[in-house]
Amino acid sequence: MSILSFFARRYIAGETRKDAIFTAKRLNSQGISATIDNLGENVKDASETDETVKEYLSLLDDIDEAGVNSTISLKLTHLGLDISGELARKNAEAIIKKALSLKNFVRFDMEGSAYTPDTIDTVLKLNRLYPNIGVAIQSYLLRSEKDANLLINEGISVRLVKGAYREPPEIAFEKKSDVDRNYESLMKKLLLGGTRPAIATHDEKLINEAMRFANEKNIPKDRFEFQMLLGIKRTLQRKLAHDGYAVRVYVPYGKNWLPYTMRRLGERKENLLFVVKNIFD
Ligand SMILES: Cc1cc2nc3c(=O)[nH]c(=O)nc-3n(C[C@H](O)[C@H](O)[C@H](O)COP(=O)(O)OP(=O)(O)OC[C@H]3O[C@@H](n4cnc5c(N)ncnc54)[C@H](O)[C@@H]3O)c2cc1C
Repeated sequence: MSILSFFARRYIAGETRKDAIFTAKRLNSQGISATIDNLGENVKDASETDETVKEYLSLLDDIDEAGVNSTISLKLTHLGLDISGELARKNAEAIIKKALSLKNFVRFDMEGSAYTPDTIDTVLKLNRLYPNIGVAIQSYLLRSEKDANLLINEGISVRLVKGAYREPPEIAFEKKSDVDRNYESLMKKLLLGGTRPAIATHDEKLINEAMRFANEKNIPKDRFEFQMLLGIKRTLQRKLAHDGYAVRVYVPYGKNWLPYTMRRLGERKENLLFVVKNIFD
């Protein structure tokens, strides 16, 4: 087993839909809901996007048949955004329609900043047609305050994250303390005015502040949810659920696990040191 696949095992449910459903069921048994993501991004071949759509349609059926409490998450570049915006939108629409027929919900992940305008634009357009969609925004981007205001006004559910891509200083906060400060400010804005916002972080200071703020402002626990990634802060996930908070875990699966795993590795100094040590041992 390579050192990378060792890490992938921690962060990814497995290669198949069955693995993802199994993991979602296990989370459900702990009072935690899921959002399942079929791994893949930056697809350059239109016929490959047909496969992605098929996979998501089958995934929605499997979630329904298994009776698991799980939404789905997807990336527009997995659906062809690098080929054309129209193709990606058409593919997303097929998935959203199916999700709607099964009373399910589709969350658009946010990718690197080259895709932010198209992702926000697509979500705004699709939201006029379908009620069951939401999108992620990243607190490291300077533009996110504007996006948060816009999405709040449109009643679109936002998942707030810090951001996982490398971005230039012209458009993004460079210092972690600034990213965290912006997260806190956007989080409070969303808690006050957003449509069932998702506070997606493993940062315990921010999670504690969200709980304190919601309590101070009398925001009920069912008006927002905490989200975390599979394999990270498992004890905290269970504790929050036990304390009556809504908790949803992002469950990625599929063969294309490398880019996702590399992003997770880069988030923690200890992970990188572990990899370097094992490569040079
Ligand atoms: C549900 C969910 C969906 C997401 N969707 C997107 C998205 O659409 N677009 C996007 O750009 N990003 C997304 N992310 C990733 C996000 O942007 C961050 O990169 C990631 O969550 C780490 O930041 P943090 O908020 O946990 O804070 P940090 O300050 O980075 O971490 C806080 C603490 O969490 C723990 N931790 C964090 N990361 C790891 C790790 N990889 N391994 C082990 N421990 C870790 C550590 O203890 C760390 O001290 C998502 C995250 C979540 C939880």
